[in-house]
Amino acid sequence: MSKNLSPVCKLCRREGEKLYLKGERCFTPKCAFERRSFAPGQHGKTGGRGGPSRTGRESDYLRQLRAKQRARRVYGVLERQFRRYFETASSRRGLPGLNLLQILESRLDNIVFRLGFASSRSQARLLVTHGHFTVNERRTDVPSMLLKEGDVVAVRGGSRALSYFKGVGDLADARTSPSWLNRDTKSLTGSIQRLPDRSEIDGILNEQLIVEYYSR
Ligand code: SF4
Repeated sequence: MSKNLSPVCKLCRREGEKLYLKGERCFTPKCAFERRSFAPGQHGKTGGRGGPSRTGRESDYLRQLRAKQRARRVYGVLERQFRRYFETASSRRGLPGLNLLQILESRLDNIVFRLGFASSRSQARLLVTHGHFTVNERRTDVPSMLLKEGDVVAVRGGSRALSYFKGVGDLADARTSPSWLNRDTKSLTGSIQRLPDRSEIDGILNEQLIVEYYSR
């Protein structure tokens, strides 16, 4: 399985805003963006590739590209898969942009993160890959698995004895979970009530620009 190996904090600096990719660290003074909020690289401060525009203006293409890259980075999805999601979103009824965000939100790694059983999507991905979760009582190790209304996610029986999962219920209680999910931090389970509305998905994402990017 291929994956993006870029140092994670560089992605926030490249996008010019905090994407909260590292869990609790993102809320501490150790956050790299708090210390260096300019694009990485030799010309990051002065407007080189990926840095701020020298003229202060961005072309439509650049804004569309940045919106697409930001969404990819927030959810940790590679280009080819992201494009496939967009094609699926476009073939469904309704608004392609909202469909795309709902597909991204319904990934298993995102659901584990949203349930509060991991501090970031990347940690959730790792936990899923290591086989610590079941979906509808079947073990799975596929973080990109797309879930639907009524699906039930649970920490696998054999994993509950691990020290991480002994404390994860308390950790999850300290994190809020969205209203489109049902969560039980005692039994370490969660289910999908419905897909999220637009207002329940991160405001830093601009799905309209993503649609424009793929419609060029
Ligand atoms: Fe981004 Fe989090 Fe790194 Fe800060 S600590 S730069 S928010 S990934």
